[in-house]
Amino acid sequence: MTDPASIVDERVDKLLAELDPRATDPVEFRRRQYDLGLAWVHFPEGYGGLGLKPVFQRQVDARVYGAGAPGPGARHFFGLTMAGPTIVTNGSEELRDRLLPRAFTGEDAWCQLFSEPGAGSDLAGLATRAVRDGDEWIVNGQKVWNTLAHIADRGMLVARTDPEAPKHKGLTYFALDMHAPGVEVRPLRQITGEAEFNEVYLTDVRIPDADRIGDTGEGWRVSMTTLSNERTTIGGGGGAPPRGSGAIAEAVRIWQEEVADQRPALRDRLIQLWVEAEVLRLTNVRAGQNRRAGNPGPEGSIAKLKFAEVNMAIYELCVDLLGADAMVGYDYDMRRAQQLGLTGPAGSSRKMFLRARANSIEGGTSEIQRNILGERVLGLPGEPRVDKDLPWSQVPR
Ligand SMILES: Cc1cc2nc3c(=O)[nH]c(=O)nc-3n(C[C@H](O)[C@H](O)[C@H](O)COP(=O)(O)OP(=O)(O)OC[C@H]3O[C@@H](n4cnc5c(N)ncnc54)[C@H](O)[C@@H]3O)c2cc1C
Repeated sequence: MTDPASIVDERVDKLLAELDPRATDPVEFRRRQYDLGLAWVHFPEGYGGLGLKPVFQRQVDARVYGAGAPGPGARHFFGLTMAGPTIVTNGSEELRDRLLPRAFTGEDAWCQLFSEPGAGSDLAGLATRAVRDGDEWIVNGQKVWNTLAHIADRGMLVARTDPEAPKHKGLTYFALDMHAPGVEVRPLRQITGEAEFNEVYLTDVRIPDADRIGDTGEGWRVSMTTLSNERTTIGGGGGAPPRGSGAIAEAVRIWQEEVADQRPALRDRLIQLWVEAEVLRLTNVRAGQNRRAGNPGPEGSIAKLKFAEVNMAIYELCVDLLGADAMVGYDYDMRRAQQLGLTGPAGSSRKMFLRARANSIEGGTSEIQRNILGERVLGLPGEPRVDKDLPWSQVPR
């Protein structure tokens, strides 16, 4: 039997022999990459994958980017990290064929339409309604905090289809066409000045039943695929960055290049955070190895919580190191973010200090991560959930 690394190498050789990534339209190049099973190598054959372990994706990426293919950008982010895994796990064959290649090429940019003004941590309490009408669903409601919805072609939408069922059971998951009549996207400006996210109003929006992901009433289960992939992406579990990279690299750079008064107390904080960043990185490496060995351990659940704490603490240190200089040199101008980043390039810590405030909220708050760790990892008694078995329509709001 040929070993997986050789299979990957053969496929990449074929891809690069057929198309020069520097001279080929990126959509065409990524489409061929998908067809050769090099999009998500851990997906099944025929759906952009080769049924291999996810670690081999790094081999693909190193070779295609090394040969000059442009890396994924904002148009690919939600499709690659969340919509793709959700569709391949829960979508019909027709949906997989129709939506997966376009998510990988970036022809369809995706966004996540989960949170609502009255439902964030308590996602299962959401109120956006979808009512069946023949082969279509009619959707009304409001979503909020929807990152990059302003560039999205498709939205991962969870809506209530049965208000008489208990809250977790009456939900259904759809691939919403963001260009459909009745979808209105409005910017929300953040503390950084940018509007990276939006509120999305849905008024009598018609969704074909063919765009439903998973069975009617199965929306909660389907959304768990999206959320677990989101946590892993934010926690850094998707891959192991090099030692000393990311936010901590910026703190070290500022210390070496910009700090005149190198007080021991600040040096102690820098070293303590360097150690914590390295422990987090090693925890992610270990989690990845356990996952590959088929034993997903608690490390993956810890990563999201710890990433938020360490990232915020590092950017706080950066502005402390800069002192009064940290207050100038950033414009707070209103911009429509076209890129996402939980860490920034050299010189960006004034903005990233503000952006990092969101780390303990986005993708599930730190309190909710602690609840998950307590209940599912440590086996502690669960929170009292008095509304769990009540029909959603009878839950006080
Ligand atoms: C930068 C950013 C990007 C985002 N992008 C998206 C996106 O693209 N799509 C999307 O759908 N959503 C997105 N969100 C929304 C995010 O998922 C929610 O903000 C988050 O789940 C918290 O919900 P909430 O804001 O309604 O706060 P609430 O749920 O109202 O929580 C308020 C406070 O109460 C605490 N709390 C709530 N319940 C409990 C409990 N049971 N135990 C202990 N404490 C509790 C919370 O920890 C928090 O401190 C984004 C948020 C941010 C900040």
